[in-house]
Amino acid sequence: MSRNTSIKCTVSQCKNHCKGENYCSLDCVTIGTHELNPTKNECTDCKSFKLD
Ligand code: SF4
Repeated sequence: MSRNTSIKCTVSQCKNHCKGENYCSLDCVTIGTHELNPTKNECTDCKSFKLD
């Protein structure tokens, strides 16, 4: 699994996470929100997350 140094991520529970290094392995990820009117970073989500 190769790290994409352009995408930092700390979600080690994700299948796409480079374990031991805080990077994503995907070439590109999709970010979205679960809120109607997002106001802070907690309102946003990585939609490319997959449970490991
Ligand atoms: S898909 Fe999203 S949550 Fe998963 S490792 Fe990549 S950036 Fe992190």
